[in-house]
Amino acid sequence: MPRLSIVVPCFNEEACLPALHERLTGAARDAAGEDYEIVLVNDGSRDGSWAIMQRLAESDPRLVAVNLSRNHGHQLALTAGLDLCRGQRIFIIDADLQDPPELLKDMLATMESEAADVVYGVRRSRAGETAFKRATAHGFYRLLSRATDVDIPVDTGDFRLMSRRALDALLAMPEQARFIRGMVAWIGFKQMPFPYDRSERFAGTTKYPLGKMIRFALDALTGFSSAPLKLASHAGLALSVGSVLLILYIAYAWSAGRNVPGWTSLMLIVVVLGAIQMFVLALMGEYIGRLYNEAKQRPLYIVQEIAGGDPRPGRLGY
Ligand code: UDP
Ligand code: MG
Repeated sequence: MPRLSIVVPCFNEEACLPALHERLTGAARDAAGEDYEIVLVNDGSRDGSWAIMQRLAESDPRLVAVNLSRNHGHQLALTAGLDLCRGQRIFIIDADLQDPPELLKDMLATMESEAADVVYGVRRSRAGETAFKRATAHGFYRLLSRATDVDIPVDTGDFRLMSRRALDALLAMPEQARFIRGMVAWIGFKQMPFPYDRSERFAGTTKYPLGKMIRFALDALTGFSSAPLKLASHAGLALSVGSVLLILYIAYAWSAGRNVPGWTSLMLIVVVLGAIQMFVLALMGEYIGRLYNEAKQRPLYIVQEIAGGDPRPGRLGY
């Protein structure tokens, strides 16, 4: 068992990989001497990432490169790496070097001195990200912490250091829709924040376009909260009160001998009610779709091949 595992999910990161390998190696040596491993997971990249990883694995015995069968998404690629790593301490980092690997040493020191099981990075600032990304991320983390019962820290990504027992607890959770930063918060133990400034991407562009961001946010919300389902009962209550008021108004108007105007108000009510009902149905659909996905119990990811390191048992017997 190495003292330290560094796990990195990679999707189309060919321009980052050589620099990533160099900086991770430096940071790992600094923190753990020679007793470490680096696990790079290729999440179905369509560029030359896998070829570079294979080359790196040939030249560095401490590097294990895992090739998934296709693009499974950030959280599942990360899960594959976490399943396959063997270290006593596990350091999770993105491939784009937005989170400085050099913080590893201080994070390890915090873990030891505080006897913490998790030391998670908290973004004090975010360089090189669009105002749109910063605003949506800001809103998302705050909405999430209001909607959920689990205390999910705000402005925290997957950049973190974990103990083996915290990782084992995480890996015991079987769900398909994985929001790992929330799942880690759920397991408990002592978890310490570690504020840092997020840099720009080393190279390339974000691998989280809007569609992926929305799916990620929905996974987080539906995975950690049933509060949206209660919106239906709130809407129902509000509409009931509204309809009683409307009945009273109509009764009053008729008794005063006035005609109640027809078409416009009628259409308005039909359209508003229809919209609310569709919205609630769609919301229920989100949960049902996820239930369906979970019920199928498919494997979380498929490994195609592994380069470097010893063969290690994973979930699928690789
Ligand atoms: N990533 C991945 N699979 C995907 C999308 C992203 O493995 O389908 C990896 C990506 O290579 C990076 C990390 O997840 O290491 C975070 O992605 P990115 O930096 O593009 O996200 P951002 O920082 O822009 O939110
Ligand atoms: Mg990034």
